[in-house]
Amino acid sequence: SITDFGGSFLNQPDQVTPMTDTSSCVSNAPESIALSAAEARDRMVAEAVPISGREFLPVRSALGRILSADIVAPHDVPAHDNSAMDGYAVRFDSLSGAGETRLNVVGTAFAGSAFSGLIGKGKAVRIMTGAVLPAGADTVVVQKVKRVDGDAVFVPAGQRKGQNTRRAGEDLARGAVALSAGKRVGPAELGLIASLGIAEVEVRRRLRVAFFSTGDELASIGKPLAPGEVYDSNRYTLHGLLTRLGADIIDMGVVPDQPQVLEATLAEAAQVADAIITTGGVSVGEADFVREILEKLGEVKFWKLNIKPGRPMAFGKVGKAWLFGLPGNPVAVMVSYTQFALDALLRLSGLDPLPVRPLLTVVAANAIKKQPGRREYVRGQIVAVDGEWQVKTVGNQGSGVLRSMSEANCFVVLPEDCTGVQAGDSVQVQLFDGL
Ligand code: AMP
Ligand code: MG
Repeated sequence: SITDFGGSFLNQPDQVTPMTDTSSCVSNAPESIALSAAEARDRMVAEAVPISGREFLPVRSALGRILSADIVAPHDVPAHDNSAMDGYAVRFDSLSGAGETRLNVVGTAFAGSAFSGLIGKGKAVRIMTGAVLPAGADTVVVQKVKRVDGDAVFVPAGQRKGQNTRRAGEDLARGAVALSAGKRVGPAELGLIASLGIAEVEVRRRLRVAFFSTGDELASIGKPLAPGEVYDSNRYTLHGLLTRLGADIIDMGVVPDQPQVLEATLAEAAQVADAIITTGGVSVGEADFVREILEKLGEVKFWKLNIKPGRPMAFGKVGKAWLFGLPGNPVAVMVSYTQFALDALLRLSGLDPLPVRPLLTVVAANAIKKQPGRREYVRGQIVAVDGEWQVKTVGNQGSGVLRSMSEANCFVVLPEDCTGVQAGDSVQVQLFDGL
């Protein structure tokens, strides 16, 4: 069955009181920025059920993958008490509280080559950073604060017990959860896993995502354009987005606006993929035959979001696969993917918790025109102006103009009731460099 959520997501522009105060272009409460946009994202995330397949991988190959089980520390990290500095390992109770203390240096401890004896009262061991603290020692006096004379070292007063040492288990105690299931493995995690001596980790299998473009006007690259045709760019953008997501991608090409072909392609995609992403064909007028097919094959909702660009969207299930029906315009594809589909895809992939995407407040370097009513994702570039970070908008903001996405490193997110921005006003940006 098909439900139209249009009404619940659409702010009627004539019900919005136009505001002349451009301070309304910054909202204080994240939820109030655009409930409808947040609600669409939350509904998708709430419905998404992570895939269950798992595999074991050598630690390096797990980069970018999502852990499917907790990683528990098999031993303390660090494994031994050790020195944080080059200096002298001493017993704190050897030191005089009042004046200089003369200690007898009885050996050296190197990283990887410990001093095997016990440090008695009045003794010291020269110690290097990372070397195991010799038995009996509890404090390290740094090299430069002492005076040396042959085998004697003179330690001034004012040392603190335990200083310049790292305690066993200080990073992680044996048995503690070092990394929780649901975490994505990045460079820090690779190192952390290695620091535990673990060679293989259990991760979710990759999410399988099939995608195709729809539209009779679309031509594939490699052949000349006939009049009225445009090259299909959305599949290339999606190839990039989904590859970076870490998905196994299945590119199903271009599907013409013909009900039978669309139905057959959707049915085939639903057989092989966990999720299907389509672009185009969900606008008013086009949506009618798409609706019929989606009604027949599964359960999909059509949403009219009050955002710009990217108003029409479809979400639901086709067979066992999740369907994300994105709009056709290339910029709208990227906005609806990043703002809506991405978190649901991450949840399907097993990521938990989902990433926080902060909205940062910066000064607008130029004026931005806006009608009240829809939440707008304006393409912007962060620039330094007189030692302060500002945002300027880039190029033509048409929803078909991909160059604006290429030049941008952030969205300027303008809330529904914003009626335009003047240079010098504060606005909120969502950085996306490195997405
Ligand atoms: P639609 O949502 O199908 O009405 O498409 C909206 C606009 O986006 C139209 O101008 C289409 O030509 C354009 N468009 C749709 N799909 C693609 C695509 N895969 N690559 C480039 N432009 C597209
Ligand atoms: Mg179309």
